[in-house]
Amino acid sequence: MADQLIRATAADGGIRVVGVTTTRLVDIARQRHGLSYVATAALGRAMTAGLLLVSSMKKPESRVNIRIKGNGPLGGLMIDAGLDGTVRGYVEQPHVELPPNADGKLDVGGAIGQDGYLYVIRDVGHGYPYSSTVELVSGEIGDDLTHYLATSEQTPSALVLGVFVGENGVEIAGGLLLQVLPKAARDDLLITVLEERLAALTGFTPLLQAGKSLPQIFDQLVGDIGLEILPGSQIVQFSCRCNRDRMLGALKLLGIDELKDMIEVDKGAEAICHFCNQAYQADCQQLQGLIEKLELEQAKSAN
Ligand code: ZN
Repeated sequence: MADQLIRATAADGGIRVVGVTTTRLVDIARQRHGLSYVATAALGRAMTAGLLLVSSMKKPESRVNIRIKGNGPLGGLMIDAGLDGTVRGYVEQPHVELPPNADGKLDVGGAIGQDGYLYVIRDVGHGYPYSSTVELVSGEIGDDLTHYLATSEQTPSALVLGVFVGENGVEIAGGLLLQVLPKAARDDLLITVLEERLAALTGFTPLLQAGKSLPQIFDQLVGDIGLEILPGSQIVQFSCRCNRDRMLGALKLLGIDELKDMIEVDKGAEAICHFCNQAYQADCQQLQGLIEKLELEQAKSAN
């Protein structure tokens, strides 16, 4: 089944709930980047979170970037998620593997590291994107983003992220974001009930593994507090926005001397997209074309 995102509200619109399944798209990222188990879990959690965070934005072209830079062996990661349901991302050290943590789970916190920063950049589709930075809490990504939402966006939120990687790849992945909106934020009883239910939710992947659908999980959490599932689900997928023209544009930035070197020494160039690992080859003729464009631009600016 395709990965999908479902939105709902509860408590008369005072609570926002979004759930997403990401099993397939996380496995595509794993295959494209040759990710280790722990790198798959880290990038998968971040991609899942990106889709959940962008889901509340309004303009169709809205995007969220999450960048994490920690002191662990993974070196950091970056994801880019759009309201159109596309997501892409990479980790700096895709092959790093760590033994399981004390709970027997993939040690994402150890791989990311506990010292470092989380950056969230929201691009509303026009003007300047706005970004906030918080220090990492645990490097487990869910905790770090919950902390970010509480401090930077002042929205009490619970974020549950899960990626289960088996021998043959990603078996199950997904996440859930529950946010208490200002109109319900002063309702102490409601918050207490939510806290209890969330505490009882031992994880997200076990629910999906038990065959529960997103609406069934929503129902378990807030079914008796006026749950309204919004009609229609959105397909989400791994998709990169790179193309040959953009990659050639990036080569052009290297400048005339470097491009000449590539023609003489390497007889061509290869540029690899960070986000999706796609390789683009440029032959000598294409490189020569870039040089001529640069020379033309220089002649123009000299006049
Ligand atoms: Zn790409």
